[in-house]
Amino acid sequence: MYDVIILGSGPAGYTAALYTSRAFLKTLILTGIQEGGQLTTTTEVDNYPGFPKGILGPQLMMDMKSQVTRFGTEIQVSEVTKIVKASKGNTFTVTAGGKEYEGKTVIIATGASAIYLGLPSETAFAGKGVSACATCDGFFFRGREVVVVGGGDTAMEEATFLTKFATKVTIIHRRDEFRASAIMLERAKKDPKISFMTNTVIEEILGEKSVESARLKDTKTGKVSTFNTQGVFLAIGHKPNTGFLKGFLDVDSKGYVKVNRVASPLEPQTATSVPGIFAAGDCVDPRYRQAVVAAGMGCMAALDAQKFLEAE
Ligand code: FAD
Ligand code: NAP
Repeated sequence: MYDVIILGSGPAGYTAALYTSRAFLKTLILTGIQEGGQLTTTTEVDNYPGFPKGILGPQLMMDMKSQVTRFGTEIQVSEVTKIVKASKGNTFTVTAGGKEYEGKTVIIATGASAIYLGLPSETAFAGKGVSACATCDGFFFRGREVVVVGGGDTAMEEATFLTKFATKVTIIHRRDEFRASAIMLERAKKDPKISFMTNTVIEEILGEKSVESARLKDTKTGKVSTFNTQGVFLAIGHKPNTGFLKGFLDVDSKGYVKVNRVASPLEPQTATSVPGIFAAGDCVDPRYRQAVVAAGMGCMAALDAQKFLEAE
């Protein structure tokens, strides 16, 4: 019987484990298939405090793992498929990799995944010119020309942010109408560094060692062309990794776990609709999606779980 079972091994999960295991709570992390989370897919992380020279994402996550194991957290590389409330007592049964684990509380920190176009070349150039996070990677595109794919607020926001670094930003959108709010669209349209290419999709990303161009198709005329660019930023939405929770606790229309964030500051901010289950990080956060925010929420969830156990 664990005091706390944590689902996910990104910054939220490891930080939660750091606090619970350091408080002598018997803690298990079930890592999921991406041990270390999203930051293991990137190179330099420049904006995680405490590293004046920056740190490589995979290194940061290995360091977080070492820190939690130092305090006795157990780690199983396993993907959770089900959580149920145990028939007797206030405990939960978590199913992962064909095994069942019993816990008095559960912290969900399963993150979210950027939606990609599904092109093989996108995977090949991940971290070599293809990105789904301008805040994270924009800095590496100083003096270069980039494209942003999408027609929503994220695309406008990412494009506007990228003008700080890139010499030219082209927004490529598959239609000629935009989901983006009028104000964000206007801001992007007024920006002299941003131009628009509508009714256009990317068919392939091309290059040798890194992105050099993209093969585009006009969705109205079918005309295919090559467009030179050194960066492709995807802004076509994110999907929280919460499918396995459907029916067990409340999620919003996009699948983000609903937590008590608007409650009084004196109440647990990470509590979900099921008492004893807490959630943190990108799986509850469609807005900030930053490692330091996820880590902060992981700390909050750990403190909330600890207080819950004390009250029990
Ligand atoms: P994640 O890091 O997404 O981790 C989720 C964890 O849950 C993973 O371990 C996964 O295996 C696990 N999981 C999923 N489903 C299950 C399941 N069913 N059972 C068990 N476990 C499961 N942010 C920054 O602040 N700075 C940056 O420079 C930066 N760069 C980025 C670069 C890239 C390419 C990407 C994609 C993101 C970047 N981010 C950056 C964003 C940052 O990575 C996320 O905000 C952060 O990782 C979210 O942490 P998390 O712990 O909530 O989730
Ligand atoms: P979104 O509004 O769903 O927009 C996604 C965009 O990606 C759409 O234009 C869509 O095209 C396009 N798209 C989806 N799949 C595609 C594919 N396979 N190929 C090409 N294009 C594709 O998502 P979002 O922009 O991430 O915004 C999500 C939510 O966050 C919204 O509610 C938004 O308002 C909010 N948000 C707010 C702010 C802010 O206020 N500051 C900033 C960012 C996000 P179609 O239009 O053709 O479907």
